[in-house]
This record gives sequence, structure tokens and C-alpha cells, in this order.
Amino acid sequence: MSERVGFIGLGIMGRGMAVNLLKAGFALTVWNRTAARADDLVAAGARLAASPAELAAECTLICSCVSDTPDVREVLLGDHGVIHGAHAGSLIIDLSTISPHGARAIGTELAARDLHFLDAPVSGGSEGAARGTLSIMVGGEPEQFTRALPYLQAMGKTITHVGRSGDGQTVKLVNQILVVGTMLAVSEALTFAKASGVDLEKTLAAVSGGAAGSWMLANRGPQCIARDWRPGFTIDLQQKDLRLVLQAADQVGAPLLATSQIYQLYRVLQQAGLGHEGNHALIKALERLSGDA
Ligand code: NAP
Repeated sequence: MSERVGFIGLGIMGRGMAVNLLKAGFALTVWNRTAARADDLVAAGARLAASPAELAAECTLICSCVSDTPDVREVLLGDHGVIHGAHAGSLIIDLSTISPHGARAIGTELAARDLHFLDAPVSGGSEGAARGTLSIMVGGEPEQFTRALPYLQAMGKTITHVGRSGDGQTVKLVNQILVVGTMLAVSEALTFAKASGVDLEKTLAAVSGGAAGSWMLANRGPQCIARDWRPGFTIDLQQKDLRLVLQAADQVGAPLLATSQIYQLYRVLQQAGLGHEGNHALIKALERLSGDA
């Protein structure tokens, strides 16, 4: 018999994931800090809880997808958090991107109350969340991974148990190193193509199917050309992820040359007031450097 599922955090990502859990037929209770963002989910059959604690009291499998480590701590361990309502044996799955160290600490605090925890950050953008095709990288106990799998399969396509508690977050940071490196390459390529006077749409059509093809090029390249800066993933959250990457790299002594420079480029854009734009607006930093802005 399936478990009653709770979902906390109905932002760009959480909304798509929660809708897909409903579509898969799971009984769903939701909570969002800004309650109005839950209206359409409630209309589609979800129950709205008054707090994360109330949500936890009526669910046995509880997902969260909020912004940063302190936010996850607040909804799980804070004054009205999950920990105050959850029944022993319940499973909490955090789908946010937070620090590996922070995830392990949360898992330990929940375990002291006989609650299970998986860190399960995702990749695939707002498109992947809406279509249920996310990649999900999971850290934690193998038995709990098996328990979570049918629910994760409603939200994602490539679901990998990568190791112990916190390891899902470490692998997500690996993912982010690859994402921003690729986005910088897309930005440099389009800046060069534009300066050289070639047709940008034909250029993308020519190179996307070859060895240079990537998710970022296919999804964000056309947005850059159309100068459509609506976020699938905001610069502010991208910057947060790079901070987590650089902190974790410092702890293990790994040199990350390109990633640390991209961190600074995103900072330039934040200082210019563009933190709410999509992470593909990285190209604007290059345009500023090349005097084309
Ligand atoms: P978003 O659209 O900004 O949504 C953030 C959500 O977190 C909102 O529901 C917000 O509530 C809630 N929230 C933030 N701080 C909170 C707090 N202290 N207490 C309670 N609720 C809080 O962000 P998103 O793009 O969905 O990203 C969510 C997570 O997924 C982040 O960790 C992000 O790094 C990760 N992620 C995002 C993408 C992407 O492409 N967007 C891809 C992979 C992973 P309100 O509605 O009240 O503001």
C-alpha cells in the first residue's frame, strides 16, 4: 500500500514534482510558505497543511524542496518544522541543493527522533521537474532508497543511489561544476559567433547535434539568442550552489579554476541587480567584458 506523501516548497522545481506525484495517483498533502502558491495543487486534489509539522503528522513520506541549507533546517527542524509532527519511522526526502555537511547533520538530528532521511538533490531544470524526467542523486540507507524509489520514479527518470548520507549532495555539486563550465562555454561560443557576424540560429543548428552538443546548449542557447532571461534556475540560486561547491572543494583541497572564476562572474551579475534572471544570463557578464552591453 502506498504511503501518504507530503511536499514542502512549491517553487519552480517543487511545483512540478508535486504535480507529478499527484498525477501518479499518490495521496498528497502540501505546504508552502506563501500559501497562495498552493492554490492550483489544492484544486487538483492535494490537501493544504497549516505548517510543516501538521503536514508531517498526516504523512509517512515527506519531501522538501526549498532554497538553501538554513531553509531546509527551518522547515524540517525549526519551531513549526516536520520534526515536531512526524511519527517515528517516517521518511524525509530532501530534494533541495544544500551543503553535504548540512545534509549529514540534518540526517543525524532526525535519526535521534527515529526519523529516516535521504538527501536527493535533482538536476534537469524546470523542464525536467514539469515533465517528470529529473535526474535524482540519492544519499542514505539502501533500505530507505528502496522505500523511496516508487515516489522518486514519479518525479524523475535517472535515479541513482550514490552512497551514504550527504553523498547525494556531493554528486549534485559535481553536477553543478559541469553545468556552469558548460554555460560559460555556451556564453563564450555565442559571444564569439555574434562578434564574427555569423547567423546565431544557424550556428546552433549546426553545432548542437555534434560533439559540442549539451543540455545547456539545446535549452539555454536559444533563450540567449532570443534574449529571454526568464529563469528556469535563478542566478541567485546558481550563485548559492557555487558557494557550496567552493566551500566543499576547500575542505577536500581540490583546485577548481574555472568554477571559481564563474562564481565571480555571477557575482558581477548579482551586483548589477540581475540575481532574479536565469543562469544563462551569464552571457551578459561576457558582453560587459567585451564592451557589448
Ligand atoms: P524557487 O522557485 O525560488 O522556490 C523556492 C521555494 O522554497 C519556494 O517554495 C519558497 O517559498 C521556499 N522557501 C525558501 N526559503 C524558505 C524558508 N526559509 N521557509 C520555507 N520555505 C522556503 O527555487 P527552485 O528553483 O524551485 O529551487 C528549489 C531548490 O531546488 C533549490 O535548492 C535549488 O538549488 C534546487 N534546484 C533548482 C533547479 C532549477 O532549475 N530551478 C534545478 C535543480 C535543483 P515561497 O514560495 O514562500 O517563496
